[in-house]
This record gives sequence, C-alpha cells and structure tokens, in this order.
Amino acid sequence: MSEPRLLVVVAHPDDETFGCGSLLLHAADHGWRTSVCCATRGEAGEPAAGRGITRDALPQARERELRDAARLLGVEHVVLLDHRDSGMAGDPEPGALVAVTLEELATQIQAELERLRPQVVVTLDGSDGHRDHAHVKDATIRAVEQTSWHVDRLYLQCLPRSLLQRWADHRRTIDPDSPYLDVEAAELGTPDDRITTTIDTSPWLARRWEAIALHRSQRSPYDDLPEELASGFLTCEHLRQLRPPPTDTRAQLDPFAHRPAI
Ligand SMILES: [Zn+2]
Repeated sequence: MSEPRLLVVVAHPDDETFGCGSLLLHAADHGWRTSVCCATRGEAGEPAAGRGITRDALPQARERELRDAARLLGVEHVVLLDHRDSGMAGDPEPGALVAVTLEELATQIQAELERLRPQVVVTLDGSDGHRDHAHVKDATIRAVEQTSWHVDRLYLQCLPRSLLQRWADHRRTIDPDSPYLDVEAAELGTPDDRITTTIDTSPWLARRWEAIALHRSQRSPYDDLPEELASGFLTCEHLRQLRPPPTDTRAQLDPFAHRPAI
C-alpha cells in the first residue's frame, strides 16, 4: 500500500516550522509522506542580531535552515520556487513574490501538485498581515481549483483570532513598533468559529522547538512568549477546511488519523 501524501505550501523559510512544524511531525508519525513547497528564500527577513549572519548571506543561510528543519520534521521533499521575499511593505523589488501574478504563481504550485500528487494540501491562512503569506494562500487555493490532480482536502493552517489577540496584547508591551501590530487587532487571525479541525500536537513539542532553533538567522515569534501563550500556538493545530466545503462532521476529523482512500 502506498502512503498518503501531504503538501505544505508556504512563502518563506521558517513558515514551515513556525507555522506548520507540529503538523508536519504529526503527519509523518501517522505514516504520511510530506513535502514543503516554499516560494522564496526569505531575503527580506531581518537577520537576528548577534548571530553573525549578514544580509548578503541571508538567502543561503535561510535555505540551509529550511532544509535542515525540514529534515528534522520528517519532510521528504523541499521545493523552492525561487521568487524574492517581498517584505512587509513598500514597493516590491524586481522578482518579488507579490509582483508575480496570481495566475503565474498558481500555475507553478499546480505543477508541484501534479508532480507530488498530495491527498491533503495545507497553506497558511495569511491572516498575520504579511502580504507574501496572503499571496501564497490565494495562489494555492487557485492551484487546487484548477489542477487535474484530485486533492482530497485543502486546509488553511490558522492563527485563531482569540489567540492572536492575546499575542498582540503581549507584543505591544515588549515591541510596540512591530510591523505585525499595524494590522487592526479586530482583523488579526482567523475568526475562531471558522476553524473546522483541531489536532492535539503536544507530543511533538520538544521536536518543534528543535526545528525552531534551527532557524537561527531569525528571531522566533515564540521565544519571548510566556509559556502558556507559546503552548497555545505550539501544542494544537488549528485548521480550516476549504475543500470540500465543510458541510458535515467529517471536517472535524483529524485528516492524518483518517486516511483517504488512495
Ligand atoms: Zn513567512
């Protein structure tokens, strides 16, 4: 019997770990073969202070971190789409991800769907205010709609609004200039009632922290969080099933514990 396959589509190195690290570990532990498709090398990220990584060396460092973290997370394939990180704001540079049309990006993701043939596809909900995340989300949805390969289920990995508002309250006290706080608090995250599926990923917490630490060029968003708030992000996956539309209780089932027929 061949194993089912999961594809996680993200914008930057670290999204796979900071966003979906526990999900990837959980799926691999349940016998799924997992892949990560990453649109950029995170060129516009801020090199973490005191770690000896220059801005010029950042793309290579971040690609290496992505590959190392993916290995730790049990990921079988890492695919880079070779666009440039657009950064949070301002005019995008040539080659920036947001300058790539939705059609073109969707076509590139579609090609990976048809090559890797995943039963389940997950991308970030794009609700944290980063324009690259939103663009990748829209292109992934488009790709699943137009591909000839049948994706059994498409999910958004969500940051629940209630949790993100607690995070924003904390962030304001320690980093009031964070660009992530420019998003209106009422618009942060995914409304909790749109989340269809929650998965307890607490067994993978230690490995998730190891993968987070491998992204040493970046400051992790969890590093300076109180433990109770960090565990809200790191010990439970919140998914929103988009395809098929969640009309029944099937949407609430853990897709990795209930394998699709393949
Ligand atoms: Zn990102």
